Amino acid sequence: MKTERSSDSFSPSEGSERLLLQRAVPLLLAWFKGHKRDLPWRHGRTFYTTLVAELMLQQTRVEAVKEKYVAFLEKFPTERELALASEDEVLKAWEGLGYYTRARNLKRAAETLFERGTPRTWEGVKALAGVGDYTAGAISSIALGLKEPAVDGNVLRILTRLFADGSAADTVKKKFSDLLREVYPDETADFCEGLMELGATVCVPNGAPLCGECPWNALCRAHGSGEEERYPVRAEKRERRVEHLDVFVLKNGGAYALKKRESGLLKGLWEFPNVPSAPRTAEFWEGHGLSLLALRTAKHVFTHVEWRMTGYFAEAATRGGEFLWTTAAEIEEKYAIPSAFRAFSDWLKGD
Ligand code: SF4
Repeated sequence: MKTERSSDSFSPSEGSERLLLQRAVPLLLAWFKGHKRDLPWRHGRTFYTTLVAELMLQQTRVEAVKEKYVAFLEKFPTERELALASEDEVLKAWEGLGYYTRARNLKRAAETLFERGTPRTWEGVKALAGVGDYTAGAISSIALGLKEPAVDGNVLRILTRLFADGSAADTVKKKFSDLLREVYPDETADFCEGLMELGATVCVPNGAPLCGECPWNALCRAHGSGEEERYPVRAEKRERRVEHLDVFVLKNGGAYALKKRESGLLKGLWEFPNVPSAPRTAEFWEGHGLSLLALRTAKHVFTHVEWRMTGYFAEAATRGGEFLWTTAAEIEEKYAIPSAFRAFSDWLKGD
């Protein structure tokens, strides 16, 4: 459900924040015109290209997305090509960006656009696969000219600093969405992107913000009191769950074993066979008649889970039918192996 719209009943502090934000809007728009970075998704923009960029930018840094975005659009220039592509082709083009559910969602969203055309409302955008409140706001503002806020961690940070708001950042999302909706200017794309740009390049998350370069430095309450780094106040972090896995890079002649992950994290992606660590490892060894060539440990950190892996590079006596056996060259060309397993991929070299 969409965040509820506000009534006119602002508290006195919200009233003063609204006035502050009203003054901040034109300063941000003027600053953005002169300082925006030259990013590939800011050229020749359509609804589809904005959707691709926004899904790629979820949980991934701008620098990592830049190159992938250009290559992805060369392969799938419109929703038509993406809708008609196979899932393996799409996952391969996504390789290196991680969080592959986004790639599948993007393909489903492209199918919807191809079948039903471009949505015209926030609700229509939100109904697309993989689009949450933030992404719906960003796409609505940037591609459709709608006055719909997009509040992510960047926007929370810069607004908690502007207002010197000591509430835990995750509790003020609705309040900030309401305030932004009240002051949204007609230049919806520049405003939305200006907020993101300020958070990414000036009012930065790690280390001291660059207040000397900020268009809001005469208004900002945190800067006024010299307490910029006190904000945002963070809620307590959830502990990451640790899972132990044994990963097998199995070789037989010139072929290597892959299998599709059946459940949990990375479901549906190609991977090296793996099992939860001992005691099941012994059964696996016996069942496959393996002789060990190399052994290595590695770690991969997801948002809420950490994998601690022991990798076994081994020669298999037979080609087990439960696996897809393929060459290193084909793996490189056709199958997207998640970066969690990258620590073991060099065992495929020299094939
Ligand atoms: S003045 Fe400093 S703390 Fe305030 S919004 Fe600008 S960069 Fe952030």
